[in-house]
Amino acid sequence: MPHSDPRALRKALRSSSTYFAKGFEEYKDQAQRELQTTYKSRLVEQIRAQSYRYQRGDITIHLAKAFGFCWGVERALEYAYEARHRFPDRQIWITNEIIHNPLVNRHLQEMGIRFVEKSPDGKKDFSQIRPEDVVIWPAFGASVSEMEFFRSQGNEIVDTTCPWVSRVWNQVDKHRAAQFTSIIHGKYDHEETVATSSFAEKYLVVLNLEEAEWVARYILEGGDPEEFRRRFGKATSPNFDPDRDLERIGIANQTTMLEEETRAIAKLFEITMLRKYGPQELDKHFMSFNTICNATQERQDAMFELLERPLDVVVVIGGFNSSNTTHLQEIALSKGLPSYHIDGPDCIQPPNRIRHKPLHQDPIVTEGWLPDGPVQIGITSGASTPDRVVEEVILRIFALREQPQTPPQGSLPLGF
Ligand code: SF4
Repeated sequence: MPHSDPRALRKALRSSSTYFAKGFEEYKDQAQRELQTTYKSRLVEQIRAQSYRYQRGDITIHLAKAFGFCWGVERALEYAYEARHRFPDRQIWITNEIIHNPLVNRHLQEMGIRFVEKSPDGKKDFSQIRPEDVVIWPAFGASVSEMEFFRSQGNEIVDTTCPWVSRVWNQVDKHRAAQFTSIIHGKYDHEETVATSSFAEKYLVVLNLEEAEWVARYILEGGDPEEFRRRFGKATSPNFDPDRDLERIGIANQTTMLEEETRAIAKLFEITMLRKYGPQELDKHFMSFNTICNATQERQDAMFELLERPLDVVVVIGGFNSSNTTHLQEIALSKGLPSYHIDGPDCIQPPNRIRHKPLHQDPIVTEGWLPDGPVQIGITSGASTPDRVVEEVILRIFALREQPQTPPQGSLPLGF
């Protein structure tokens, strides 16, 4: 059940001596040095300095002008590293992957930070977390019930929630205070959306414009509430009544959705409420505020720009469960280019093989993905991908041409 007043809960947390939301200043320099050494790449810096273009032999790499770690991810990682130094002898937990990147998560585990596991029914198992343990909330945030649980258990909490995510929560708070239903553009089971929806009294999560159009038709023309529940049962607050709970709506979003689509959905609902209630009454039935994170926006804009170059093939790097990476891949495919979403360098294998994840499918292996002869490759990466990974991918691609029959050292394929 939703907390009676999530805003009061957040306020209470902020004034608590066991809650840390600004990292630990005394370990900042040390953490930044470690992050620099672990995740930065000289090669990528060099390519940035060369107008995002780099040629070796007949392969030319074009990098997007904005890619990789966003500000929110760097901040979350920095806080996690600082927390390790601040609490050297304590068990530290993260309530989920701090970000969706396998390399980063492996490093954190090597630092002795443990990830909360999910039980087969998808619920998180907090039973092993003792009151004396330290708990990190990831960049996606934590749900209201998780906040209540750790606060009541007395854990020390290191909150790395990205301020862009909290900005959406503030918006949902406003919907709640005005007794509006929050319509959230996102994936109902994505960690960030689970947290965001927990702040709403009433909510409905729509995945895309198609779902939003279905809901808009329902608002204007009515429909069968049972069909609505069948369709959106998992994506609504408990006891959601589409005939009652869609009279006043506010728009919110998962920060990493396709920006264009979020805007289109907000516009669609604005027009819908305008048609239903008229301009005089619109404010009483509709609320919207732009909550798209600017890092997501920059990366998507840079992807569109990258695709204007004369590319033969695109490689999009990022965790397979990373929402913002998947959207970059969608943009590449929308332009009709062959595009491969990979999660790291091990996906590139000699002689000319790639393990990649087609949209909405499980990963597959494709042979002969790199065209013969001179080739122009566009590369971008999601907001949770370190530059070091981008460098390794680039080197693996060059190695396909330079040592066609010899696997690069230590390159046992992952999941082949
Ligand atoms: S993608 Fe945006 S919302 Fe997500 S962590 Fe980065 S800056 Fe924050």
